[in-house]
Amino acid sequence: MQNHNLKVIHKGDACGNDMIVKFQLSSGLEIFGLPTRNFYGGHWDLGPTWNYVVLADKPFLVDAGRFGQGKKLVDMMESVDIRPEDLEFVLISHSHEDHDGGLAELVKSTNIKVKAHVIYDLLIRKYPKKAPPGYKEDFPAKCWHCVMPESFYTKNCLGYHKVLQDLKVDKISDEKYNLGKNICSHHLPGHSPDCLALLLGEEAIIVGDIVLPDISPWPTCEELFYEVADVIKPVYTEPHAIFGLLRYIKSLKKLWEIARLHSDLLVLPAHRLYHNSHWNSLNLADRVNELLEHHIQRCAAIIEILNTEPRTADEIAQEHFEERLLEGFGSLMAANEVVSHCELLIHSGDVAVVDNGMYTAKGSANFEADIRALKSDY
Ligand SMILES: [Zn+2]
Ligand SMILES: [Zn+2]
Repeated sequence: MQNHNLKVIHKGDACGNDMIVKFQLSSGLEIFGLPTRNFYGGHWDLGPTWNYVVLADKPFLVDAGRFGQGKKLVDMMESVDIRPEDLEFVLISHSHEDHDGGLAELVKSTNIKVKAHVIYDLLIRKYPKKAPPGYKEDFPAKCWHCVMPESFYTKNCLGYHKVLQDLKVDKISDEKYNLGKNICSHHLPGHSPDCLALLLGEEAIIVGDIVLPDISPWPTCEELFYEVADVIKPVYTEPHAIFGLLRYIKSLKKLWEIARLHSDLLVLPAHRLYHNSHWNSLNLADRVNELLEHHIQRCAAIIEILNTEPRTADEIAQEHFEERLLEGFGSLMAANEVVSHCELLIHSGDVAVVDNGMYTAKGSANFEADIRALKSDY
């Protein structure tokens, strides 16, 4: 952080809530960090969402905080003399609620233009005829898979989803996409099908939730593809093109390639930039390597569990994760992690599905070599 001239403009709490910071890069480019509160608690707590204002030739904002934080974000910007009407656009890093929940409120109060990946534009709409049967008919496609119970999202998300459905979005394509002089986005799906990372010249990269300090971003499951296939086809026809751990690892490899080209990038993640009263300074290549090792270890642990006898994802989760991580909604998150790893292990030929949705080990361990050999595909 020291190299990048970090100035704390407004102090916050130990997690960074209420903080406002400014980075001044050696080219003179200024980036403001504006963390907005999240409502999570317990052991899966990510801390606030770090939204960023980049004062490029055409200044813009990245992300809009969670539902209820749109106006707060405007107030934070104004407190440091950033006029929202001077911003060219807000870019949404991906479709998770802690990043676009405040968007409708932000757009309503500032009329700001919205840019996001083309998949985001498809997934925020509702398709009553294509939705899964039952109460999800009025929900946008991006929430059809949500594992939270109805009571949770009726309380926390339904309001903003209804507004987002009418939003006009400037669509960003899969290819490296120019957002200004020396500023380009990369589509790096896996954590979410519409994840974007934003490279700012040779100096900084805004990575959203693709790479985080302290925590390993959870990967999607490929099986989610089939739920929204009708909505996103014919553009994306293969699950692993945009969903799943395999896809996520390819995205990590792309970040590794970017890190190799630009070795001293300031990495700006969407969570935990500041945590437990200290700054988390990331070296992009090192962090990518740590995350790859983490997934290799988790795959190995799952195979070890399956070597004794076939098990369901829930059973593997119960055995693999610490008890405290399985409390409340934690057990759903944990089972999701297991499924995404098992999908990768099926690709590598190390695991198969048997009766009753149980997974079984096939006696091989090809996954590690496969993960290490994976290319970014770009
Ligand atoms: Zn996310
Ligand atoms: Zn997030």
